[in-house]
Amino acid sequence: MIPKTIIEKQLTDLSATLRPVTQRMHLWAEKNIFLKWAVLSRGKFHCLQCAHSWKPDAQKQCCQKYINCTACRGKLKMMQYNQVHFKEIEYWAVLNVCADFQVVRIICSHKHMKKNFLPTYFHKEVMQHWINSKGEVRTLSLSTNVFSNAYDAWKYYSPLEIRPKSFVATPKYRINPYRVYSASKVLAVLKRNGFKGSFYGMAPQALFTALLKDSYAETLLKTKQTDFLKHYLLSPSQSIRENWQAVKTCIKHGYKVADFTIWEDYIDLLKFFKMDLNVPHNVCPENLLELHDRLMERKRRIVRRQKIKQLREEIEQAQAVYEEDKKQFFGLEFSHGNLRISVMESVRDFLDEGDLLRHCIFTNEYYKKKSSLMLSAKFENKPVETIEVALPSLDVRQCRGEGNKASVHHKEVLRLLKDNLYQIKKRMRRKKTSKQAGE
Ligand SMILES: [Zn+2]
Repeated sequence: MIPKTIIEKQLTDLSATLRPVTQRMHLWAEKNIFLKWAVLSRGKFHCLQCAHSWKPDAQKQCCQKYINCTACRGKLKMMQYNQVHFKEIEYWAVLNVCADFQVVRIICSHKHMKKNFLPTYFHKEVMQHWINSKGEVRTLSLSTNVFSNAYDAWKYYSPLEIRPKSFVATPKYRINPYRVYSASKVLAVLKRNGFKGSFYGMAPQALFTALLKDSYAETLLKTKQTDFLKHYLLSPSQSIRENWQAVKTCIKHGYKVADFTIWEDYIDLLKFFKMDLNVPHNVCPENLLELHDRLMERKRRIVRRQKIKQLREEIEQAQAVYEEDKKQFFGLEFSHGNLRISVMESVRDFLDEGDLLRHCIFTNEYYKKKSSLMLSAKFENKPVETIEVALPSLDVRQCRGEGNKASVHHKEVLRLLKDNLYQIKKRMRRKKTSKQAGE
């Protein structure tokens, strides 16, 4: 990307003035960021660090995870598979200060290994994060191969170029170097804000930007609540700010949170029950999981009770409307043998029949349909099918049993219904007459 804004041009110019990563730093990385490896090939151990090979003295040695080289004395990790070439890739960082910017330089290093040869290395600076004193960051990086599945398939021949602001949202920005070069330099303001040289497993660019622009992060670091800080900076769904009152109680009483997901859940429960978040007894429990489960159960019971109450109220209201609407059909019932069809008279019946036959007459509020009359067919007093008859045409819209399927009584139900449609019709007329009478 060609630098366009003043800051982009400034950073591009400043980047050109940085001294290259030195040979000494490369040697440090080769020694400090890679594992040492061994492989078992044709009955012999091969040290991929010093090229020595030797025969195992006992059979059991062959299946160990680590062995010691008999020549260089290195502790070697066993390669799982024997192949011709072996490669290990790691990231590390060098920190510079340049014109009031904190620079985090990310270097990608490759270690190539082959039996009977000394390892060879390749180092390339792939990113520079430039952070100003307000914690704003811009990145220069190499290009990557967009057709690769990996997000960090660097094009090593490409130049370091300024990237758009949105680069911070990419996984490349979040690459966390395995180690930071020991003789690195940091801005004085970072030390003032609590940085003492440790990153606690966080990427330097993430920790630095947070320390410069976020007083919450600063407080957590200064009070040595590094677990809280890590959770705050690294968990996408954390709610440290929302729970700050509770966090402060933890800081004050030196409480260590064992499981942040459970703890944040637990704090939400404390809030639900309006419990005081300044009281350590509430916020910093010894038996977090047990208390969490207990409160959870209490909340579940309350919520269930509320839902049932709400449902009961809804049904009561709906019942009044339903009665007003369909009253003239109430009491209608026709039967033949053990089969009986009756008009549904209460909304509660819609709920029960919907549950029993696993269909949606209640959920989809069929009791509210003005242009339908709902009837229930029962065999030996057990609901077998639910019927929807259109008003005023009296067409049978639906007649369904369990799971919306026809029951064994389906034909019989339809016959009984059709034989008695005239009775429904009579009630419709009656409604008309009573209306006319009222006029
Ligand atoms: Zn060796």
